[in-house]
Amino acid sequence: MSNIGETTLAINLSALEHNINFIKSKLNSTTKFLAVVKAFAYGSDMVAVAKKLESLHVDYFAVAYVKEGVLLRDAGIKSPILVLHPQAINFEELINRCLEPSLYSPRILKNFLKTAQEKGQTNYPVHLKFNTGLNRLGFCENDTDYILEQLKDRAEVKILSIFSHLAASEDKEEHEFSLQQIKIFKKINTVLSNKLGYSPMRHMLNTSGIINYPEAQFEMVRSGIGMYGYSNHIEIDTQLKPVATLKTIISQIHKIEPNESVGYNRGYISNGYRIIATLPIGHADGISRQHGNGKSFVSVKGKKAPIIGNVCMDMVMIDITDIDCKEGDEVIIFGKNFSAEDFANTANTISYEILTSISQRVKRTIQ
Ligand SMILES: *Cc1c(COP(=O)(O)O)cnc(C)c1O
Repeated sequence: MSNIGETTLAINLSALEHNINFIKSKLNSTTKFLAVVKAFAYGSDMVAVAKKLESLHVDYFAVAYVKEGVLLRDAGIKSPILVLHPQAINFEELINRCLEPSLYSPRILKNFLKTAQEKGQTNYPVHLKFNTGLNRLGFCENDTDYILEQLKDRAEVKILSIFSHLAASEDKEEHEFSLQQIKIFKKINTVLSNKLGYSPMRHMLNTSGIINYPEAQFEMVRSGIGMYGYSNHIEIDTQLKPVATLKTIISQIHKIEPNESVGYNRGYISNGYRIIATLPIGHADGISRQHGNGKSFVSVKGKKAPIIGNVCMDMVMIDITDIDCKEGDEVIIFGKNFSAEDFANTANTISYEILTSISQRVKRTIQ
């Protein structure tokens, strides 16, 4: 048993490499791979992950916001970085740091052209985002003429790629809807490429898209969750390895008499003699209130121990009555052999939320 001594998120970079190789095995050899490292690389360690990915020669990175791209540049990442959801206020910094914007609306296009002109740019790489049904971000299909009009005789930017995002790529029931999105995307591409006189790269698939719609991989795919070891598919999950393992230790053990209460607002009342352990991890580390009161489990010596009572800001209590363990012993919240997907399901959420909620207070270790 390793003595980690405190709450730690262990990041396994060989698992990351394994997952990328697995995802790439689903792609044509010429398809480019864009690694989504937004939100601290899905709550892990953005710099460590990006450096590893760069050493594995991924083609592109994506982050959500300019600030995240700046962190990567500060860490010495040289690869192209697509910023998926930039705000106009950050365009100057975006250009200063050689980040590539997703242009997703007339307002954003106009603002970017203005900044690019002020900064004397020519052929600055940009990416056009189209809404094909998610109704979240993107130009609509009918905006193509407007875009071409705006870009006519403007040398400031060069369209490197055109992309869209599936609304339900993991959902078999929405197969028809996804096919419709792909169809609209193809149509937009044809119209734009014809009128531009050159063909920007096209990309549409996230991890689940890669698994369910490989025919729509075009020139590039964008993978996030799959790299980190989760896929939204039970069979595929078994072939991926979780990159992040959240561990902590037993701080203190209490013996509880029948009808005693545990925690704030007496959330737990014992129905017999119980042994409970207090762990140094709580809301402020990313453990939601939804995990308390018997809903979620952690792993102690390979056995399941329920989180009892209300989750506190800095602690949770677990029931270890039937587990042979002592203060200082390791506890796995999720990760290897104890999936974040299961931990998510017990609290009615998804692996994405569990992973990205681990706060910056938790120490990261790189393996
Ligand atoms: C986050 C994101 C992705 C990655 O999706 P996964 O399901 O994690 O693979 C891809 N594309 C866009 C536009 C995103 O916002």
